Amino acid sequence: MPTTLILGAGLAGLTAARELTQHNHDVIIVDKGRGVGGRLATRRIANGRADHGAQYFSARSAEFQALTQTMLTAGIVHEWHIEQSDPASFQHPRFVGAEGMSSIAKYLANGLTVQTEKRAVQVSQIDNGWQVAFDDGQTIRADSLLVTIPAPQVLALWQESGLSLSPDDQAALESIHYEPCLAVMLQLSQPSNVPAPGGLKLPPDSPVSWIADNQQKGVSPDLPTVTIHASHSYSQQHLDDPDLNALIPDLVAAVADYISPGTIVGQQIHRWRYSNATVRYQEPFLAASTQVPLLFGGDGFGQGNVEGAYLSGLAMARALLQQADFPI
Ligand SMILES: Cc1cc2nc3c(=O)[nH]c(=O)nc-3n(C[C@H](O)[C@H](O)[C@H](O)COP(=O)(O)OP(=O)(O)OC[C@H]3O[C@@H](n4cnc5c(N)ncnc54)[C@H](O)[C@@H]3O)c2cc1C
Repeated sequence: MPTTLILGAGLAGLTAARELTQHNHDVIIVDKGRGVGGRLATRRIANGRADHGAQYFSARSAEFQALTQTMLTAGIVHEWHIEQSDPASFQHPRFVGAEGMSSIAKYLANGLTVQTEKRAVQVSQIDNGWQVAFDDGQTIRADSLLVTIPAPQVLALWQESGLSLSPDDQAALESIHYEPCLAVMLQLSQPSNVPAPGGLKLPPDSPVSWIADNQQKGVSPDLPTVTIHASHSYSQQHLDDPDLNALIPDLVAAVADYISPGTIVGQQIHRWRYSNATVRYQEPFLAASTQVPLLFGGDGFGQGNVEGAYLSGLAMARALLQQADFPI
């Protein structure tokens, strides 16, 4: 049975793994995070929750609509609201994970072989495949390697491994750009004043770009929590500040209209060095010019965002399955 190692248990990696597993591939997914999901991230706060990465998703392609329908039926996601300001002038629903966005990843990971809290530190090409060493001292060998970690981290990993890519592949990965985002999560003693349906984009001159009420989203029914995303420029400016907690009062002040004074009973901040892929490789994945299969994908490839990560993972798996010379 062909073996495939997938780096990254975000939506792209999990999707590729599911597709390959359904076609009798022996797949192992490895992630440096504590759990699966990557940027489909939900934090538990007391008896509540807050999504601090992706906030919602839409499904426009037939493939992602089919998965979304399956997850709706299984109670993994629910419709949050209808987007009414779509530039293409049609209305489409937005969905959220019923217990937070990370519940989507947990659902997709069910039945897959996933190892977490393992960071890939060294990649080597061996005779008929790849060998990856991890920070716990383990190495894994596979016939093919799918890499779904953000492109700047791929480039760093390749450099640390002493490996070089072809000039075209190197240029393709270097062209991909992500913007950073600082995310604040607040636990409140009373519901917020964020108007229905519970998510709001703020004006471009605000240090905050987005505020969401996780209770109204249905993600934190028993406890009012809000998520605040700092704007791109504010996040860029403060990304490497040594004390991120010191930024919280600034960001909270920018959304004072939506939070009653004295109701904040807990606060956390998270640094996303790579949040949304703003400059992406045009195709849904990149097949490296190597003799043994090596594919790069994730939301930096194709259309981006949650749906783009799904479509990238699916396209990677399908391309691998189609490779005529893949050992079976
Ligand atoms: C703040 C924020 C807000 C967002 N809002 C939205 C939104 O509202 N709607 C939307 O559609 N999209 C949104 N996005 C984007 C969306 O979350 C991503 O497009 C999507 O989740 C990316 O999935 P992925 O599988 O490509 O990457 P990821 O989810 O990043 O998965 C990559 C995985 O690789 C792992 N990894 C990295 N390096 C290593 C290593 N060396 N070894 C092992 N594992 C490694 C990481 O831990 C991670 O789990 C948002 C993202 C952020 C951060």
